Amino acid sequence: MTPTTIKSVDWNAFISELAGIELITDPTQIAKLSLDYYHFSPVLQPKLSDKRGDLVVRPATEADVLRVAAACVKYKVPLTVRGAGTGNYGQCVPLQGGVILDTTRMNAIHWIKPGLACVEPGVKMATFDKKARETGWELRMVPSTYRTATIGGFIGGGSAGIGSITYGQLRDRGNLHAVRVVSLEDEPRVIELRGDEVQKVNHAYGTNGIITKLEIPLGPAYPWAEVIVVFDDFMTAARFGQTLGDSDGLIKKLISIHAWPIPSYFAALKSYLPEAKHCALLMIAESCLEPFQELVREYGGQVTYQKIAQEASKGTSLAEFTWNHTTLHARSIDPTLTYLQTFFFTLERVEQMYCHFGDEAMIHLEFLRVNGKAMPAGLQIVRYTTEERLNEIIHYHEENGAFIANPHTYILEDGGMKTIDPQQLHFKELVDPYGLMNPGKMKAWESR
Ligand SMILES: Cc1cc2nc3c(=O)[nH]c(=O)nc-3n(C[C@H](O)[C@H](O)[C@H](O)COP(=O)(O)OP(=O)(O)OC[C@H]3O[C@@H](n4cnc5c(N)ncnc54)[C@H](O)[C@@H]3O)c2cc1C
Repeated sequence: MTPTTIKSVDWNAFISELAGIELITDPTQIAKLSLDYYHFSPVLQPKLSDKRGDLVVRPATEADVLRVAAACVKYKVPLTVRGAGTGNYGQCVPLQGGVILDTTRMNAIHWIKPGLACVEPGVKMATFDKKARETGWELRMVPSTYRTATIGGFIGGGSAGIGSITYGQLRDRGNLHAVRVVSLEDEPRVIELRGDEVQKVNHAYGTNGIITKLEIPLGPAYPWAEVIVVFDDFMTAARFGQTLGDSDGLIKKLISIHAWPIPSYFAALKSYLPEAKHCALLMIAESCLEPFQELVREYGGQVTYQKIAQEASKGTSLAEFTWNHTTLHARSIDPTLTYLQTFFFTLERVEQMYCHFGDEAMIHLEFLRVNGKAMPAGLQIVRYTTEERLNEIIHYHEENGAFIANPHTYILEDGGMKTIDPQQLHFKELVDPYGLMNPGKMKAWESR
């Protein structure tokens, strides 16, 4: 092998510590496994495109992970954990080279009980759901990358998704019950965190422990119908989304609202998305379709697409046009487009930004539950010109009371958190005293 990034490490000696664990040393493969979807951001592109790990390890068990951790500590080699590598902000891109620990071989489902499951981190969310649905349950929320993304990666780097209109965000109490993590101390050990303690590693970008097991809550697996409703007027579509979100009697999993011209980017749905109309992409419990039609009538919408769950399960789900897949489709038509992540809090603010930015920041809303209330969050599609203009757009939102979870930074605290999380920092001090885990990502640690 020809490791390039960390010159001073005796890689042959390092590798000899890992006998029996699958390794990848081919530079092309390593390059592939060093990157994620950071390229959605024109700001991150030049900063991350040349970052590479030196070696990929693919442990199959927690005991393997302990051995990898011990070797990294012994040789002071950085370690970056990677699930499926679908993160958007270079979360699993190794800034300082070293080992990439790929979790995808750790994909056991230990047990599924009514409402709760225990899994290894590398289980793909779609694979898990297929199994869980046999028992009448499913993951409470999934990102639109659920077909490839891992459960551990969602906890390490995700925030919310399809299902969040009912269950809120990952960080909400109750959405993660327990984790086991491996430390990078002189003698690596396994630590179990339960209850509120899980927040120490929840959305920490793998900077403070390698998650080896998780207990995650489930929701009832309704047969989900998929529906597209189109509207002449964008704010009517947005108000329809809000009312659907507030309708406690209507069981739903997804309320995704798109201002024209965003629907024009959904090539595969073209025949259901008339020119110049704004659309709602929805997942509604089949049993609620009849009362749901009343709501559509009330808002003057037109249903152009409706599939019951069984039909919907055969093709591509509408879910794969929502959340950040909207950006994926838009960028596949026009790669210069980028996006923002925004809490508008109110529809008045949505309208203000819709009128102010027009086509420059096209509005895509996802409704999610925040402290018990349905709230519009934005994943606006932005016509990128310069970083300066992007920052102006961000500042305008912030000055006017919106909250931007900036997707154009790989720094943990500069994204959605905005503040240093002392719990996560203290836990890092305990479990990663040499600062080997995903170095360069946790500002609190770097600026101590
Ligand atoms: C098109 C598109 C759509 C998306 N939609 C959504 C969405 O709807 N909602 C959403 O929240 N995100 C979304 N994302 C981001 C991402 O897909 C999800 O967060 C996904 O769950 C990440 O899973 P992964 O396995 O790919 O994680 P990775 O990208 O591999 O890792 C994510 C982070 O978690 C850390 N990590 C991974 N495994 C572990 C572990 N075992 N222990 C500790 N740390 C670990 C990594 O180091 C990294 O920092 C989207 C991304 C794209 C490209």
